[in-house]
Amino acid sequence: MNDKTTKNQVDEDVYSLRQRYLFVSSFIVLLIFAFAWLAQNYVSSHSEQHRQNIELRHQATQYIRQLRNEVLQIEKGLEAFMWGPTDRRHNEVHHRIDAALQYFEQLRQHQWIIQNNMTSELGDFALDLKALHITLHRVMTMRIRKSTEVISLDQIKVNIKQADQRFTSSANALRQTSQPLTQQLTTTLLLKEQLQTLLRALLYKETPTITDAVSPSQLEQIESVYEQINKMLSTISTHPEINSNPQHQPLIDRMQNAHRESQFSFDDLKVIRVNGTFQEQIPYLKHTVEPHFEHLWEYLNKLDSSIDDFSKVEAKELGKVANLVAKVVWLLCFFGLAVISVAYLYFQSTVLQPIATLARALKGYAQGEKIESLPEVHNVETRHLLDAYREMHAQVQDRQQALEHLAMHDSLTTLPNRYHLMGRLQALCETSQQSQAVFAVVILGLDRFKEINDTLGQYTGDAILKKYGQRLQFLLRGTDSIARYSGDEFALLLPGASRDEALYVARKIHRVMETPIDIEGISLSVSSSIGIALYPENGQDKEELTRRANIAIAIAKRYKISIALYEKRYDTSSVERLSLAGKLRQAIHDHELHLCFQPQFTVHQRELSGVEVLCRWNEPERGLISPEEFIPVAEHTGQIHVVTEWVVDTALQQAKIWHDKGLDCGILAINISAFNLHAPNFYHMLEKQLQKWDYPAARLMLEITETAMMADPEHAIKILGKLKELGLKLSIDDYGTGFSSLSYVKQLPVNELKIDKSFVMEMTTDENDAVIVRSTIELAHNLGLKVVAEGVDTQEKQDLLDVLDCDYMQGFHVGKPMLAAEIEQHLPTRKTKGSKIHHLKDFR
Ligand code: C2E
Ligand code: CA
Ligand code: CA
Repeated sequence: MNDKTTKNQVDEDVYSLRQRYLFVSSFIVLLIFAFAWLAQNYVSSHSEQHRQNIELRHQATQYIRQLRNEVLQIEKGLEAFMWGPTDRRHNEVHHRIDAALQYFEQLRQHQWIIQNNMTSELGDFALDLKALHITLHRVMTMRIRKSTEVISLDQIKVNIKQADQRFTSSANALRQTSQPLTQQLTTTLLLKEQLQTLLRALLYKETPTITDAVSPSQLEQIESVYEQINKMLSTISTHPEINSNPQHQPLIDRMQNAHRESQFSFDDLKVIRVNGTFQEQIPYLKHTVEPHFEHLWEYLNKLDSSIDDFSKVEAKELGKVANLVAKVVWLLCFFGLAVISVAYLYFQSTVLQPIATLARALKGYAQGEKIESLPEVHNVETRHLLDAYREMHAQVQDRQQALEHLAMHDSLTTLPNRYHLMGRLQALCETSQQSQAVFAVVILGLDRFKEINDTLGQYTGDAILKKYGQRLQFLLRGTDSIARYSGDEFALLLPGASRDEALYVARKIHRVMETPIDIEGISLSVSSSIGIALYPENGQDKEELTRRANIAIAIAKRYKISIALYEKRYDTSSVERLSLAGKLRQAIHDHELHLCFQPQFTVHQRELSGVEVLCRWNEPERGLISPEEFIPVAEHTGQIHVVTEWVVDTALQQAKIWHDKGLDCGILAINISAFNLHAPNFYHMLEKQLQKWDYPAARLMLEITETAMMADPEHAIKILGKLKELGLKLSIDDYGTGFSSLSYVKQLPVNELKIDKSFVMEMTTDENDAVIVRSTIELAHNLGLKVVAEGVDTQEKQDLLDVLDCDYMQGFHVGKPMLAAEIEQHLPTRKTKGSKIHHLKDFR
């Protein structure tokens, strides 16, 4: 609850990226819109103004053009009037002047002219136009007055033209009717044509300019042609042919009249042109009228050019607007760029960087590193991301713990599992190595558990496992640990446990496990087997220790000895031993085994008391193989029974041979493996052999190792008791290497203890070993047992044993193991039995 409120508070403090984005983007959008609106307004107002200006200027230009047109028309009209001063032309000129004034007035009052302060300039124009009006009126009056006195030029032209047409048609008509006159008439017509050409040239030349004077030669030429035609006409009229046809006379008359008329008209023309009556107004035109026109044109040109100037200014203004718009666009571009850059930097620092930091943290977390830095919170989104990350982190940790527990524990019994155990074992190895401490690895397996599972069902099986798990847990000390090792196996780690302590715990567990358990009303008793491996003597690391504890439990199960402590000889895993196992089977068959005999003597009298039978294997490839190497192989492969039987058979046979030879080897001591003891037919085998060789049981000693007997003392006691019944003697071999306390030994039906050679060999140098030897001898004697010391390899030891009151001795100093043929030479005869027949020196 509290967490939630603070989170909400923080959420309020910190804006979300979306909010910031909305805020900033709306601000920018508004800004851009404002910019755009301002620019649009500015451009449209300017362009509207310019458009209006252009329109007005256009109108003004139109007026000016019309004005120009009117002035041109006035000029033309004046000229036409000067050529032919008709009323229509006179009116036309006046009308044009009025129109021009009208246009001018419109122009003067035009908005554009007013706006641009051009009205004052236009004032001059109006005056000019009015002055022109007055001068025009004067020149035209002048012209009208003259034309009343002389015929007009146009009229002359028309008269000449009409007269010449009449002439030509009459001449042609005459030429068609009068053959003889054809020649003269054609000449006359050609002359007429020449005359017309000359007249046309004169008249047309006069047309463009009124002021040009006619050259006198031109007139003379025309006059001469007129005269030539006159002559031709008088010739023709006097021709007899004329009179021959009454029709000819009128024709020739018409021709003469027409020609005369034409000549008169020409005379008029001459009067106008040569006398200069027509040209009176020309100087006036030239000096008064024309300057007015020039002035007007100049004025109009000036107007045009000033309008041009205005449009240039206008264009410049428009260019400015366009420039401004372009600048605004650029500004917006830069602004946009700046916004994008700032946005990117902001995005980088508030989103990308936190995400990258978080991603790094996640990656580091995935790789199991410690998280050192988490991104700072800048916005709601990163806060949510961070919260999600923390949540995930916490949940993953919870799950990891759960998974670890699952991975480390057995779900059925809730005990730690094998994996967990191996971890503990590893740690224990390391700490024990440093502190030079000892510990034991104990593996406990339920016997015939599969059978229970199959017959009573898995549910019962599970219940049994749970119950036993609880029982085991209950038995352990605080420092011990337990685990479910495999389906029907539990493993225990006993820190600080020595061999004896481990065996003590193992026995206690074994006892407790045998107490029946109650499952759903059914009382069940499940036997168990226990294997023990010790640190550091059986292994220095977890693999070695568990492997060896497994070997030990396998041994315990195989030979039903309940508890087995690992021994090196059990270990058959080496390749060499496996190959030996294969060869051993054949070795017995191929007679590769043979026996050696080592003598035993009484310590005080130094007399031969017996011989120990020691087995040898002469392997063709490897040579002599020690029994310490092949006996464990035989034990593990089950061939020990065959080997033992062969040893017993061969030794008894040898004893029989010696007996038959009259020799006495004393007590025959044969080594027996712990595995032989558990074999059901061992007893019968011995019985059979004794019978076979007719050997007295009392002269046969069986040497059984301490560890073999003590692994399962109760069973051992039972078997040994039976053997004892046969009359055999029993010896505990390698005494001192095991764990047996004398209280156990006391219960065993044995005759002697054989102190292990390791103590004897060190007893002169190691005070502890000396103490062990002495106390063993004393205690054994107290229990009524004889004591044999093996490993007597010096005189010093022999002497010490004498002092310690040891009974028998065996060792390289007093007699090495020998072949039958060799020892045979040192054996006493049966006749001298009991006497001191052989001194030790004979055996050395
Ligand atoms: P063990 O029963 O303790 O036999 C005595 C061993 O000590 C013999 O070794 C012998 O050669 C050796 N030994 C005797 N005196 C001395 C001495 O002064 N100094 C030293 N360093 N060693 C001495 P071996 O013959 O190699 O036998 C080794 C072991 O093999 C025996 O130990 C015995 O446990 C086993 N073994 C031998 N033969 C048989 C057999 O036929 N059956 C069975 N089950 N085990 C046998
Ligand atoms: Ca022995
Ligand atoms: Ca021994």
